[in-house]
Amino acid sequence: MASQASILIVDDKINNLIALEDTFSHIDAAFIKATSGNGALREVLRHDFALAILDVQMPEMDGYELARLIRSRKRTSQLPIIFLSAIYSDDFHIFKGYESGAVDFIPKPFSPEILAGKIRFFIEIYFQKITLKETILELERTKRLVLEQNEQLKQLSTHDDLTGLYNRRHLVISLEQEFSRCCRHGTELSLIMLDLDHFKSINDNFGHEFGDYVLKEFSALLQVSVRTSDLVFRFGGEEFIVLLPQTAADGAAKTAEKIRRNCAEGMIDDGNYAVKITVSIGVTSYDQTMHATASCMISFADKALYQAKENGRNKVMIYRGKNIPFGEIL
Ligand code: GH3
Ligand code: MG
Ligand code: MG
Repeated sequence: MASQASILIVDDKINNLIALEDTFSHIDAAFIKATSGNGALREVLRHDFALAILDVQMPEMDGYELARLIRSRKRTSQLPIIFLSAIYSDDFHIFKGYESGAVDFIPKPFSPEILAGKIRFFIEIYFQKITLKETILELERTKRLVLEQNEQLKQLSTHDDLTGLYNRRHLVISLEQEFSRCCRHGTELSLIMLDLDHFKSINDNFGHEFGDYVLKEFSALLQVSVRTSDLVFRFGGEEFIVLLPQTAADGAAKTAEKIRRNCAEGMIDDGNYAVKITVSIGVTSYDQTMHATASCMISFADKALYQAKENGRNKVMIYRGKNIPFGEIL
Protein backbone atom coordinates (compact mmCIF):
# COMPACT_ATOMS: atom_id res chain seq x y z
CA MET A 1 0.00 0.00 0.00
CA ALA A 2 1.25 3.55 -0.82
CA SER A 3 2.48 5.12 2.43
CA GLN A 4 1.63 8.66 1.37
CA ALA A 5 -1.41 9.87 -0.53
CA SER A 6 -0.98 12.18 -3.53
CA ILE A 7 -3.12 15.25 -4.06
CA LEU A 8 -3.41 16.98 -7.41
CA ILE A 9 -3.55 20.77 -7.29
CA VAL A 10 -4.30 22.62 -10.51
CA ASP A 11 -4.09 26.36 -11.08
CA ASP A 12 -2.76 28.35 -14.04
CA LYS A 13 -0.89 30.56 -11.59
CA ILE A 14 2.11 28.76 -10.15
CA ASN A 15 2.20 31.16 -7.20
CA ASN A 16 -1.26 30.00 -6.13
CA LEU A 17 -0.05 26.40 -6.24
CA ILE A 18 3.06 27.17 -4.18
CA ALA A 19 0.93 29.03 -1.64
CA LEU A 20 -1.52 26.16 -1.46
CA GLU A 21 1.26 23.63 -0.93
CA ASP A 22 2.74 25.84 1.72
CA THR A 23 -0.58 26.21 3.55
CA PHE A 24 -0.95 22.43 3.79
CA SER A 25 2.68 21.48 4.34
CA HIS A 26 1.69 20.02 7.74
CA ILE A 27 -0.47 17.41 5.98
CA ASP A 28 1.26 14.13 5.23
CA ALA A 29 0.59 14.05 1.48
CA ALA A 30 2.46 14.67 -1.77
CA PHE A 31 1.04 17.71 -3.56
CA ILE A 32 1.48 17.30 -7.32
CA LYS A 33 1.15 20.58 -9.20
CA ALA A 34 -0.23 21.23 -12.69
CA THR A 35 -0.65 24.65 -14.30
CA SER A 36 -3.01 23.62 -17.10
CA GLY A 37 -5.82 21.17 -17.86
CA ASN A 38 -3.62 19.11 -20.17
CA GLY A 39 -0.82 19.05 -17.61
CA ALA A 40 -3.36 17.85 -15.02
CA LEU A 41 -4.59 15.06 -17.34
CA ARG A 42 -0.99 13.89 -17.79
CA GLU A 43 -0.48 13.76 -14.00
CA VAL A 44 -3.75 11.92 -13.55
CA LEU A 45 -2.40 9.14 -15.78
CA ARG A 46 0.83 8.95 -13.76
CA HIS A 47 -0.56 8.94 -10.20
CA ASP A 48 -3.38 7.46 -8.22
CA PHE A 49 -4.66 10.61 -6.53
CA ALA A 50 -6.66 10.78 -3.33
CA LEU A 51 -8.10 14.17 -4.29
CA ALA A 52 -7.93 16.85 -7.00
CA ILE A 53 -8.23 20.53 -6.09
CA LEU A 54 -8.99 22.55 -9.22
CA ASP A 55 -9.06 26.21 -10.10
CA VAL A 56 -12.08 27.12 -12.24
CA GLN A 57 -10.81 29.78 -14.54
CA MET A 58 -7.88 28.61 -16.63
CA PRO A 59 -6.94 29.36 -20.27
CA GLU A 60 -7.45 26.62 -22.94
CA MET A 61 -9.27 24.19 -20.68
CA ASP A 62 -11.27 25.49 -17.72
CA GLY A 63 -11.79 23.61 -14.47
CA TYR A 64 -15.28 22.39 -15.47
CA GLU A 65 -14.04 20.75 -18.64
CA LEU A 66 -11.08 19.26 -16.83
CA ALA A 67 -13.40 17.85 -14.15
CA ARG A 68 -15.70 16.36 -16.79
CA LEU A 69 -12.76 14.72 -18.58
CA ILE A 70 -11.40 13.30 -15.34
CA ARG A 71 -14.83 11.92 -14.39
CA SER A 72 -15.43 10.49 -17.87
CA ARG A 73 -12.33 8.25 -17.80
CA LYS A 74 -12.87 4.88 -16.20
CA ARG A 75 -9.61 4.95 -14.26
CA THR A 76 -10.25 8.37 -12.73
CA SER A 77 -14.05 8.43 -12.62
CA GLN A 78 -14.02 8.01 -8.83
CA LEU A 79 -11.43 10.73 -8.13
CA PRO A 80 -12.96 13.28 -5.73
CA ILE A 81 -12.72 16.85 -7.07
CA ILE A 82 -12.90 20.08 -5.10
CA PHE A 83 -13.16 23.45 -6.86
CA LEU A 84 -11.39 26.42 -5.34
CA SER A 85 -12.37 29.74 -6.89
CA ALA A 86 -12.35 33.41 -6.02
CA ILE A 87 -14.36 34.79 -8.93
CA TYR A 88 -16.91 32.10 -9.80
CA SER A 89 -18.51 31.72 -6.39
CA ASP A 90 -22.11 32.49 -7.32
CA ASP A 91 -24.83 29.82 -7.22
CA PHE A 92 -24.82 29.32 -10.98
CA HIS A 93 -21.11 28.52 -11.11
CA ILE A 94 -21.16 26.47 -7.92
CA PHE A 95 -24.01 24.38 -9.37
CA LYS A 96 -22.09 24.04 -12.65
CA GLY A 97 -19.13 22.80 -10.63
CA TYR A 98 -21.25 20.07 -8.97
CA GLU A 99 -22.71 19.17 -12.34
CA SER A 100 -19.25 18.63 -13.80
CA GLY A 101 -18.57 16.07 -11.08
CA ALA A 102 -17.13 17.99 -8.12
CA VAL A 103 -17.87 16.94 -4.54
CA ASP A 104 -17.29 20.44 -3.15
CA PHE A 105 -16.94 24.04 -4.24
CA ILE A 106 -14.94 26.27 -1.90
CA PRO A 107 -14.98 30.02 -2.46
CA LYS A 108 -11.83 32.04 -1.86
CA PRO A 109 -10.75 33.28 0.54
CA PHE A 110 -11.07 29.95 2.29
CA SER A 111 -10.47 28.78 5.83
CA PRO A 112 -7.25 26.69 5.78
CA GLU A 113 -8.51 24.65 8.76
CA ILE A 114 -11.75 23.71 7.00
CA LEU A 115 -10.00 22.78 3.73
CA ALA A 116 -7.32 20.87 5.68
CA GLY A 117 -10.10 18.91 7.40
CA LYS A 118 -11.60 18.04 4.02
CA ILE A 119 -8.22 17.04 2.58
CA ARG A 120 -7.60 14.74 5.56
CA PHE A 121 -11.06 13.24 5.13
CA PHE A 122 -10.38 12.36 1.47
CA ILE A 123 -6.94 10.95 2.35
CA GLU A 124 -8.65 8.69 4.89
CA ILE A 125 -11.24 7.62 2.32
CA TYR A 126 -8.42 6.94 -0.16
CA PHE A 127 -6.65 4.56 2.23
CA GLN A 128 -9.93 2.91 3.18
CA LYS A 129 -10.58 2.35 -0.53
CA ILE A 130 -7.14 0.75 -0.96
CA THR A 131 -7.73 -1.48 2.06
CA LEU A 132 -11.11 -2.44 0.65
CA LYS A 133 -9.58 -3.26 -2.75
CA GLU A 134 -6.94 -5.43 -1.05
CA THR A 135 -9.62 -7.16 1.01
CA ILE A 136 -11.64 -7.85 -2.15
CA LEU A 137 -8.52 -9.26 -3.88
CA GLU A 138 -7.81 -11.41 -0.84
CA LEU A 139 -11.43 -12.62 -0.79
CA GLU A 140 -11.22 -13.46 -4.49
CA ARG A 141 -7.97 -15.36 -3.88
CA THR A 142 -9.61 -17.24 -0.99
CA LYS A 143 -12.67 -17.98 -3.12
CA ARG A 144 -10.48 -19.37 -5.91
CA LEU A 145 -8.60 -21.47 -3.36
CA VAL A 146 -11.83 -22.82 -1.82
CA LEU A 147 -13.17 -23.66 -5.30
CA GLU A 148 -9.91 -25.45 -6.16
CA GLN A 149 -9.97 -27.34 -2.86
CA ASN A 150 -13.62 -28.26 -3.41
CA GLU A 151 -12.68 -29.56 -6.82
CA GLN A 152 -9.82 -31.58 -5.28
CA LEU A 153 -12.14 -32.91 -2.56
CA LYS A 154 -14.70 -33.87 -5.19
CA GLN A 155 -11.96 -35.60 -7.17
CA LEU A 156 -10.75 -37.38 -4.01
CA SER A 157 -14.25 -38.49 -3.08
CA THR A 158 -14.92 -40.02 -6.49
CA HIS A 159 -11.47 -41.05 -7.73
CA ASP A 160 -8.77 -43.46 -6.67
CA ASP A 161 -5.54 -41.73 -5.67
CA LEU A 162 -3.10 -44.18 -7.23
CA THR A 163 -4.69 -44.89 -10.59
CA GLY A 164 -6.94 -41.86 -11.16
CA LEU A 165 -9.83 -44.22 -11.94
CA TYR A 166 -13.21 -43.88 -10.24
CA ASN A 167 -13.18 -45.39 -6.75
CA ARG A 168 -15.39 -47.99 -5.12
CA ARG A 169 -17.56 -45.36 -3.41
CA HIS A 170 -18.38 -43.88 -6.78
CA LEU A 171 -19.16 -47.34 -8.17
CA VAL A 172 -22.02 -47.77 -5.69
CA ILE A 173 -23.61 -44.52 -6.88
CA SER A 174 -22.92 -45.08 -10.60
CA LEU A 175 -24.15 -48.66 -10.60
CA GLU A 176 -27.46 -47.68 -8.97
CA GLN A 177 -27.86 -44.83 -11.47
CA GLU A 178 -27.03 -46.90 -14.53
CA PHE A 179 -29.11 -49.81 -13.30
CA SER A 180 -32.23 -47.71 -12.74
CA ARG A 181 -31.67 -45.98 -16.09
CA CYS A 182 -31.53 -49.31 -17.93
CA CYS A 183 -34.65 -50.60 -16.07
CA ARG A 184 -36.56 -47.40 -16.89
CA HIS A 185 -35.62 -47.26 -20.56
CA GLY A 186 -35.37 -51.00 -21.19
CA THR A 187 -31.75 -50.68 -22.30
CA GLU A 188 -28.85 -53.05 -21.72
CA LEU A 189 -26.20 -52.77 -19.05
CA SER A 190 -23.07 -54.89 -18.69
CA LEU A 191 -20.51 -55.13 -15.93
CA ILE A 192 -16.98 -56.47 -16.25
CA MET A 193 -14.96 -57.46 -13.18
CA LEU A 194 -11.21 -57.90 -13.54
CA ASP A 195 -8.55 -59.26 -11.17
CA LEU A 196 -4.85 -59.35 -11.99
CA ASP A 197 -3.38 -62.84 -11.85
CA HIS A 198 -0.76 -63.66 -9.22
CA PHE A 199 -0.30 -59.99 -8.51
CA LYS A 200 1.08 -60.72 -5.07
CA SER A 201 4.14 -62.27 -6.70
CA ILE A 202 4.83 -58.96 -8.54
CA ASN A 203 5.05 -57.18 -5.18
CA ASP A 204 7.04 -60.02 -3.68
CA ASN A 205 9.55 -60.20 -6.56
CA PHE A 206 9.92 -56.56 -7.59
CA GLY A 207 8.70 -54.53 -4.62
CA HIS A 208 5.55 -52.61 -3.81
CA GLU A 209 6.60 -49.55 -5.79
CA PHE A 210 6.82 -51.53 -9.00
CA GLY A 211 3.51 -53.19 -8.03
CA ASP A 212 1.97 -49.71 -7.92
CA TYR A 213 3.48 -48.94 -11.32
CA VAL A 214 1.88 -52.09 -12.74
CA LEU A 215 -1.50 -51.06 -11.30
CA LYS A 216 -1.20 -47.62 -12.93
CA GLU A 217 -0.15 -49.07 -16.29
CA PHE A 218 -2.95 -51.61 -16.24
CA SER A 219 -5.44 -48.85 -15.36
CA ALA A 220 -4.25 -46.84 -18.37
CA LEU A 221 -4.64 -49.90 -20.59
CA LEU A 222 -8.17 -50.42 -19.26
CA GLN A 223 -9.10 -46.83 -19.87
CA VAL A 224 -8.01 -46.89 -23.51
CA SER A 225 -9.60 -50.29 -24.17
CA VAL A 226 -13.16 -49.16 -23.43
CA ARG A 227 -15.52 -46.55 -24.87
CA THR A 228 -15.60 -43.07 -23.39
CA SER A 229 -19.17 -43.78 -22.29
CA ASP A 230 -17.97 -46.76 -20.22
CA LEU A 231 -17.04 -46.15 -16.59
CA VAL A 232 -13.84 -47.65 -15.16
CA PHE A 233 -13.43 -48.20 -11.40
CA ARG A 234 -10.70 -49.50 -9.11
CA PHE A 235 -12.79 -51.87 -7.01
CA GLY A 236 -10.08 -52.97 -4.59
CA GLY A 237 -6.31 -53.63 -4.53
CA GLU A 238 -5.81 -55.30 -7.93
CA GLU A 239 -9.47 -55.61 -8.80
CA PHE A 240 -11.27 -53.42 -11.29
CA ILE A 241 -14.79 -52.99 -12.61
CA VAL A 242 -16.00 -51.57 -15.92
CA LEU A 243 -19.63 -50.49 -16.30
CA LEU A 244 -20.81 -50.57 -19.91
CA PRO A 245 -24.12 -48.75 -20.33
CA GLN A 246 -26.23 -49.69 -23.37
CA THR A 247 -24.04 -52.70 -24.01
CA ALA A 248 -25.32 -56.27 -24.28
CA ALA A 249 -23.46 -59.43 -23.25
CA ASP A 250 -21.79 -60.04 -26.60
CA GLY A 251 -20.33 -56.54 -26.81
CA ALA A 252 -19.17 -56.66 -23.19
CA ALA A 253 -17.57 -60.09 -23.69
CA LYS A 254 -15.73 -58.83 -26.77
CA THR A 255 -14.44 -55.83 -24.84
CA ALA A 256 -13.34 -58.09 -21.98
CA GLU A 257 -11.55 -60.41 -24.39
CA LYS A 258 -9.79 -57.45 -26.00
CA ILE A 259 -8.59 -56.27 -22.56
CA ARG A 260 -7.41 -59.78 -21.65
CA ARG A 261 -5.50 -60.17 -24.92
CA ASN A 262 -3.92 -56.68 -24.83
CA CYS A 263 -2.84 -57.28 -21.27
CA ALA A 264 -1.34 -60.72 -21.96
CA GLU A 265 0.45 -59.58 -25.11
CA GLY A 266 1.87 -56.39 -23.63
CA MET A 267 4.89 -55.86 -21.44
CA ILE A 268 5.03 -53.60 -18.42
CA ASP A 269 8.39 -51.91 -18.22
CA ASP A 270 9.42 -49.08 -15.89
CA GLY A 271 13.03 -49.00 -17.09
CA ASN A 272 14.20 -51.19 -14.19
CA TYR A 273 11.93 -54.19 -14.45
CA ALA A 274 9.89 -55.58 -17.30
CA VAL A 275 7.09 -58.08 -16.68
CA LYS A 276 4.23 -59.73 -18.46
CA ILE A 277 0.96 -59.83 -16.56
CA THR A 278 -2.37 -61.51 -17.17
CA VAL A 279 -5.86 -60.77 -15.97
CA SER A 280 -8.90 -62.92 -15.21
CA ILE A 281 -12.26 -61.45 -16.11
CA GLY A 282 -15.91 -62.07 -15.22
CA VAL A 283 -18.70 -60.53 -17.30
CA THR A 284 -22.38 -60.13 -16.58
CA SER A 285 -25.14 -58.34 -18.44
CA TYR A 286 -28.53 -57.27 -17.25
CA ASP A 287 -31.55 -57.83 -19.40
CA GLN A 288 -35.17 -57.19 -18.49
CA THR A 289 -35.94 -60.89 -17.83
CA MET A 290 -33.34 -61.25 -15.08
CA HIS A 291 -35.16 -59.85 -12.01
CA ALA A 292 -31.76 -58.92 -10.60
CA THR A 293 -30.77 -55.92 -8.50
CA ALA A 294 -27.81 -53.63 -9.09
CA SER A 295 -25.69 -55.35 -6.44
CA CYS A 296 -26.56 -58.75 -7.96
CA MET A 297 -24.59 -57.69 -11.02
CA ILE A 298 -21.44 -57.45 -8.94
CA SER A 299 -21.95 -60.87 -7.40
CA PHE A 300 -22.75 -62.42 -10.82
CA ALA A 301 -19.57 -60.94 -12.31
CA ASP A 302 -17.66 -62.08 -9.24
CA LYS A 303 -18.94 -65.65 -9.75
CA ALA A 304 -17.77 -65.55 -13.38
CA LEU A 305 -14.43 -64.14 -12.32
CA TYR A 306 -14.03 -66.89 -9.72
CA GLN A 307 -14.68 -69.42 -12.46
CA ALA A 308 -12.08 -67.74 -14.70
CA LYS A 309 -9.51 -68.15 -11.91
CA GLU A 310 -10.59 -71.76 -11.39
CA ASN A 311 -10.25 -72.45 -15.10
CA GLY A 312 -6.59 -71.47 -15.04
CA ARG A 313 -6.57 -67.61 -15.07
CA ASN A 314 -5.98 -65.33 -18.08
CA LYS A 315 -9.58 -66.15 -19.07
CA VAL A 316 -12.86 -64.33 -19.71
CA MET A 317 -15.99 -65.99 -18.32
CA ILE A 318 -19.54 -64.79 -18.69
CA TYR A 319 -22.35 -65.32 -16.20
CA ARG A 320 -25.65 -65.81 -17.99
CA GLY A 321 -28.03 -66.27 -15.05
CA LYS A 322 -29.07 -69.23 -12.96
CA ASN A 323 -29.98 -71.74 -15.63
CA ILE A 324 -27.07 -71.31 -17.94
CA PRO A 325 -23.68 -72.37 -16.64
CA PHE A 326 -20.63 -70.18 -16.97
CA GLY A 327 -19.40 -70.30 -20.51
CA GLU A 328 -16.03 -69.42 -21.83
CA ILE A 329 -16.19 -66.72 -24.47
CA LEU A 330 -14.26 -67.53 -27.54
P1 GH3 B 1 -4.90 -64.28 -7.94
O1 GH3 B 1 -4.35 -64.64 -9.27
O2 GH3 B 1 -5.59 -65.41 -7.28
O3 GH3 B 1 -5.76 -63.07 -8.01
O4 GH3 B 1 -3.65 -63.94 -7.03
P2 GH3 B 1 -3.18 -62.53 -6.54
O5 GH3 B 1 -1.78 -62.67 -6.02
O6 GH3 B 1 -3.39 -61.52 -7.58
O7 GH3 B 1 -4.23 -62.25 -5.42
P3 GH3 B 1 -4.10 -61.92 -3.91
O8 GH3 B 1 -5.48 -61.49 -3.47
O9 GH3 B 1 -3.50 -63.08 -3.16
O10 GH3 B 1 -3.12 -60.71 -3.80
C1 GH3 B 1 -3.43 -59.47 -4.21
C2 GH3 B 1 -2.24 -58.59 -3.93
O11 GH3 B 1 -2.47 -57.26 -4.34
C3 GH3 B 1 -1.88 -58.54 -2.47
C4 GH3 B 1 -1.76 -57.07 -2.15
O12 GH3 B 1 -0.60 -56.77 -1.40
C5 GH3 B 1 -1.66 -56.44 -3.51
N1 GH3 B 1 -2.14 -55.08 -3.53
C6 GH3 B 1 -3.37 -54.64 -3.19
N2 GH3 B 1 -3.43 -53.30 -3.32
C7 GH3 B 1 -2.23 -52.88 -3.75
C8 GH3 B 1 -1.65 -51.61 -4.06
O13 GH3 B 1 -2.29 -50.56 -3.98
N3 GH3 B 1 -0.36 -51.58 -4.48
C9 GH3 B 1 0.38 -52.72 -4.59
N4 GH3 B 1 1.64 -52.61 -5.00
N5 GH3 B 1 -0.12 -53.92 -4.28
C10 GH3 B 1 -1.39 -54.02 -3.88
MG1 MG C 1 -7.90 -59.98 -5.82
MG1 MG D 1 -5.36 -61.11 -8.22
